[in-house]
Amino acid sequence: MQVLTQEIHLNATTVKLFIKREDLIHPFVSGNKFRKLKYNLLEAKKLNKTSLVTFGGAYSNHIAAVAFAGKQNGFKTVGIIRGEELESKISENPTLQFCQDNGMKFVFVSREQYRLKETERFLDNLKKEFENSYIIPEGGTNDLAIKGCEEILNQDDDFYNFVCCSIGTGGTISGLINNSFKNQKILGFPALKGDFIKKDICKFAKNENWELISDYHFGGYGKVTAELIDFINDFYQKNAIPLDPIYTGKMVFGVIDLIYKNYFPENSKILLIHTGGLQGIQGMNIKLNSKKMQTINFDD
Ligand SMILES: *Cc1c(COP(=O)(O)O)cnc(C)c1O
Repeated sequence: MQVLTQEIHLNATTVKLFIKREDLIHPFVSGNKFRKLKYNLLEAKKLNKTSLVTFGGAYSNHIAAVAFAGKQNGFKTVGIIRGEELESKISENPTLQFCQDNGMKFVFVSREQYRLKETERFLDNLKKEFENSYIIPEGGTNDLAIKGCEEILNQDDDFYNFVCCSIGTGGTISGLINNSFKNQKILGFPALKGDFIKKDICKFAKNENWELISDYHFGGYGKVTAELIDFINDFYQKNAIPLDPIYTGKMVFGVIDLIYKNYFPENSKILLIHTGGLQGIQGMNIKLNSKKMQTINFDD
């Protein structure tokens, strides 16, 4: 699959910046979620499974991707959703509404129950409740997902000195690391606070040419500031490229900030991976509106 790569023009630097538009792969199953599902869907078909069961938060790109891709591939889908209070608010949540419109059934669980979702007991109960189901972990990250993410980089991409991506569960960066070139460094920008993700990446990554940059989570997962929203709107006005506020917006903000702090050597060529996530913007704008904050606006 050929994915469009665009140059982003910057002033007053010798660094060259490019972005791989994985967000354009599919309108609903965008970016890395498409990559992560590809081999999992093939496996579920091979095993003759009839349902896909997975986990996520209220605005999860992964949940939306599974709902749509599941329907397209003839599976029933079940989403285990964090937060019991959401059960009565589906119509106020564009992501959950989209999933429901695509036939997904929900199980809303408390935050305590959600934390137990990887225990054997929880998974056994799920398998009993949803017969013949294929269980996909939160964020879609497993060995087959990494295999899919290894296809993001291709032979021409040895041109770049740095490859940068946002991190949630660490699956995407692991795929990038495994298919990177020796001369390259992979930089990951966690969208969550805390360094626990490093361990998870070490489980999947086969090379050591990577580093985490943990200064651009903007307060934690799903948190935003007026400065970040301004940056996303301004980036769209200058480049006509939409970024999401949970993942790619924070990563691109971080990379450009680091360029002007002279983090990168002169004449570096940097590739940003646009991992998608644009479906979440509508839900974020509802939240921003309720806080009387500036919203994300991609009108020309
Ligand atoms: C899920 C997601 C990520 C994080 O990917 P991981 O493989 O979980 O690290 C990054 N960007 C977007 C847009 C996502 O939806």
